[in-house]
Amino acid sequence: MRFNPEKCAIPDKRMQPFIDSNEIWNYINNTEVTDERVQQIINKSLNKERLTLEETAVLVNANNPDQIEMIKEGARKLKEKVYGNRIVLFAPLYIGNRCTNNCKYCGFRASNKDAVRKTLSDEEIIKEVEALEDNGQKRLILVYGEHPDYSPEYIAHTVRTTYGVKKGNGEIRRVNINAAPLDIEGFRTVKDAGIGTYQVFQETYDREAYSWYHLGGKKKDYDYRLTSLDRAQEAGLDDVGIGALFGLYDWRFEVLALVRHTVHLEACYNVGPHTISFPRIKDAKTLNITNKYEVSDADFTKLVAILRLAVPYTGLILTAREEPKVRREVMQFGVSQIDGGTKIELGEYSKSQNEDQNLNREQFKIADDRSLGDVIDELLDQKYLPSFCTACYRLGRTGEHFMEFSVPGFIKRYCTPNAMLTLAEYIMDYATGDVAEKGWQRIEDELQQLENGEFKVDTAEIRNRIEKIKQGERDLYF
Ligand code: SAM
Ligand code: SF4
Repeated sequence: MRFNPEKCAIPDKRMQPFIDSNEIWNYINNTEVTDERVQQIINKSLNKERLTLEETAVLVNANNPDQIEMIKEGARKLKEKVYGNRIVLFAPLYIGNRCTNNCKYCGFRASNKDAVRKTLSDEEIIKEVEALEDNGQKRLILVYGEHPDYSPEYIAHTVRTTYGVKKGNGEIRRVNINAAPLDIEGFRTVKDAGIGTYQVFQETYDREAYSWYHLGGKKKDYDYRLTSLDRAQEAGLDDVGIGALFGLYDWRFEVLALVRHTVHLEACYNVGPHTISFPRIKDAKTLNITNKYEVSDADFTKLVAILRLAVPYTGLILTAREEPKVRREVMQFGVSQIDGGTKIELGEYSKSQNEDQNLNREQFKIADDRSLGDVIDELLDQKYLPSFCTACYRLGRTGEHFMEFSVPGFIKRYCTPNAMLTLAEYIMDYATGDVAEKGWQRIEDELQQLENGEFKVDTAEIRNRIEKIKQGERDLYF
């Protein structure tokens, strides 16, 4: 399918900047908001169409409590209708905190002389991955500072090392990357190592604010960063993740800019971003910014609901930067992936309890430090279906969220069964306490819903595969 092109101030051209801040402010400052218009826009989104910048601006400006409730209700409905109750789980693995940049908000910045610099050795990576596998993780995102040490070849090497670690029934089946922008050749090198998604956050899409926060190093170059995922696409890497660091600039601007970035990728490559991330700024060593643009919990919830409606077929990632209460609240409005059991201190996963836990190597403070088991326990209590599925990208079904969304029955035929199979594996190999009992019950409930639903699904085959997992087979998927 081709996306509907949208007329924007700067015509979309491959590898050319596309953000016009006047255009975005014009929409924010000049949209008329009525209940009818808000409802119309929500209906368009429920009809599985991406919203335009102007429509997104209407939602951003919808400020009365009834309208905000309409937006949240719309997002909740869209999530239920389209994605069901699956939540995909992953964990970040910090590989190295050397950095030549000076982002004012980040504990890794070069001028933070207190930071203890470290890059994990191969042996340490293996130990970390083993510890993550022992917790039940199957999907990781590897994170790096920006430094000549972290060349594309080095990144590819760490990816291969990670895939090579097998402990018991444990293995990592999808490695995503969050690292500095690369050139086309560099993206090709990393793609060849078999990565899933490559994430680069623009941090702020406002050019002036961007130059205020990014004082030195390669990251100073706004345009190079803005066009980084174009270069990924040119290299054939079509699973890319965009994001903005909320708290650096006006959140309304960033939301529209994320939609504008989506429009750009659709226009040039006929595929939107695979995921959108919306980290909120967290306390970091030597954090050196004002709180002028701090995003309240209420605005944060609203902006997630708006993103859900604006880009219905894009995965939304919520991280452990947020505390459990906020995560619980926001998750209902369309988040599709969260991390669990997160540790961001370098080498922390494999450290024993009594080793020094505070070596000053972390980037910022996380607010949800629960174990993966505890996160899964809560997801089950709230009737979510935890998933470690990695089937699509391994079967070459990339752009998967788009497919989930547009192919009728895709979720019921593939995603839900695969979520059940990966949850069954987790239960067999890693569940403790009453998580196993709750997990089996969840799987049974899901099976019955599929059996009673209108869309015909071969549940006998799903039951058959769950039985095989109970007998010791692993890595079964549709
Ligand atoms: N160095 C690479 C880069 O800058 O793109 C990738 C890794 S960086 C460690 C990952 C992301 O962490 C950044 O893109 C930024 O959005 C986020 N981040 C940095 N400082 C943060 C803070 N104080 N609170 C929350 N997120 C932060
Ligand atoms: Fe370095 Fe990335 Fe931190 Fe900036 S955000 S200082 S580039 S690690």
